[in-house]
Amino acid sequence: MGEYGKPLPRGEGYHGDFYRFCKQHELRFQRCADCQAWRHPPRECCPHCGAFAWRWEQVSGKGQVYSWTVVQRALHPAFAEDVPYAVVIVELAEGVRLVSRVLDLPPQELRLGLPVEVVFVDVTPEVTLPMFRPCR
Ligand SMILES: [Zn+2]
Repeated sequence: MGEYGKPLPRGEGYHGDFYRFCKQHELRFQRCADCQAWRHPPRECCPHCGAFAWRWEQVSGKGQVYSWTVVQRALHPAFAEDVPYAVVIVELAEGVRLVSRVLDLPPQELRLGLPVEVVFVDVTPEVTLPMFRPCR
């Protein structure tokens, strides 16, 4: 044991850039340089106004639980010891949403609008995943 056997993000393209910022413990999302809309997952052009100009911008890391589903049966063997666990959509204070996990909280205690903050989990020496925990 000790091996992180779960699937890992690929370090390619804009997704690779996103996770390289996570490695530095910075949560950054693309933000349109024209209409200022945030977006995720990363893509070439703004889904709101169609502009191609954008920049990576850091967010506060504070947000709230937007939605979730509870996984009762692991679909990948590496998740077997985690069940039941919640896959959570967190809406950051800036309005952009991210699929993640909320740590330190049993799934049955999740609530819509629950305030959460980002925590960076170094799952391997190369990969850091952004997860969340309830605000204290
Ligand atoms: Zn835009």
